[in-house]
Amino acid sequence: MVSSQLWQATLGELEILLSKPNFSTWFKETFIISFEHEKVIVGVPNAFTKTWLEKKYHPLVIKALRNVSHASVKDVIYKVEILDTTKQAQPIFQKDALSLGSFEEKSLGVQEQEVNLSPSGLNPKYTFHNFIVGKYCELANAACQAVVAQPGEVYNPLFVYGGVGLGKTHLLQAVGNEILQRFPSKRVLFVTCEKFTNDFIQAVRSGRAKELKDTYRSVDVLLIDDIQFLSSKEGTQEEFFHTFNTLHHTNKQLIIASDRPPKAIPAIENRLQSRLEWGMIADISSPDLETRIAILEVKCKEKKFALSTEAVNYIATIVHSNIRELEGALNRIVAYTQLNKAEIGFDKIKALLASITSNYAKKSITPKQLIQIVADFYNISIEDIMSESRKRELAVPRQITMFLMREETKCSFPAIGQVLGGRDHTTAIHAYNKIHRSCDEDVKIKQDIDLIRQRIYNI
Ligand code: ADP
Ligand code: MG
Repeated sequence: MVSSQLWQATLGELEILLSKPNFSTWFKETFIISFEHEKVIVGVPNAFTKTWLEKKYHPLVIKALRNVSHASVKDVIYKVEILDTTKQAQPIFQKDALSLGSFEEKSLGVQEQEVNLSPSGLNPKYTFHNFIVGKYCELANAACQAVVAQPGEVYNPLFVYGGVGLGKTHLLQAVGNEILQRFPSKRVLFVTCEKFTNDFIQAVRSGRAKELKDTYRSVDVLLIDDIQFLSSKEGTQEEFFHTFNTLHHTNKQLIIASDRPPKAIPAIENRLQSRLEWGMIADISSPDLETRIAILEVKCKEKKFALSTEAVNYIATIVHSNIRELEGALNRIVAYTQLNKAEIGFDKIKALLASITSNYAKKSITPKQLIQIVADFYNISIEDIMSESRKRELAVPRQITMFLMREETKCSFPAIGQVLGGRDHTTAIHAYNKIHRSCDEDVKIKQDIDLIRQRIYNI
């Protein structure tokens, strides 16, 4: 077998074993350079592909090569080289093989961890198709759709923020999956801030920092989740800063998710914060009752599970904090029904979700917890909130605390003054009125309060 045929046959094997996006992302532009002395040299289009093939697909490639060649193959080396079409035959793709795409890599004895890890970090279960859009996430959704249509050309970076369980990860993943569908040759990488940090620390330790840099800096689309965890991590911030610059300069798309807007991420360098604000900032607020009902109805349909309108309305009313909890409540009901193999009545649903309702009743937050949440949100101490300081960065959080204490704990004004370091009740009334007005006039304060509320509802 001549080497180009050998590689085409190998690609045929690989295509059966990998998902379509993975196969086209990592193998489409590969070709064989040489096959001598039991060593195969494979040409790859860039350093990024080289790294991924070495790290993730090496055992699979060797196995596939061995399967198709009758000669023995001891080693495979990947070399960055552009395919010269005048000399080499283009790889042939066996389209029919695609229907077998669900075949497990495991069957070739590749280690489990390697099998489960998609190099792109994407989970195919998150799509736009199963993302329900309501007013509360309209902007974020529209911005993501715009990015999908023209990656790197509009809204760069796109910064999406909102409280827990409201669909940030789902949206980022959906963008990644959709871009791969539409542009299979684009390199998409989804990574949590935590993974980015760990990768970076490990690479520095093992002297492979350069390699990691190349990997992150050669993607077309970088999706970073939960960026707020960059707070206080100086080394990683520096690395992210340079990655950001490299990608942004070359019009590669960045999408970043966070539980708060860039300005509210504590202990983050100014230059990085300002970059996060360069493009579009879209928030996701809390879904209203109608949207929660719509989401439940769609989830029921997905699960092929019938629920009465009465039950749907009930669940959507009592579970109001976020969509993850809404799904959780539904899963509980579905599980019960499957286990008991019987239809579930409204009374039973109420009983099943009783712990949720009683939780909410109990959940009314204590003044102490509220002070802690506000302090954490602004990255200041409880003492700062209690203090006499009139500095704006302390006075505003203090007034917001008083406002929320009145709204969320129903404390009297004298009690609020008392809890906050023995202040007079007129101070508490003044703070309440001031923040109440600010909610209409000051977008930033309104956003902060929305986000703090989301945290209060999620304790
Ligand atoms: P976040 O990252 O904001 O904490 P996730 O994206 O993890 O939230 O969402 C939590 C769960 O709720 C996931 O299972 C997700 O699929 C689901 N979900 C969130 N928003 C929506 C939505 N608009 N439509 C459908 N499912 C959603
Ligand atoms: Mg998330």
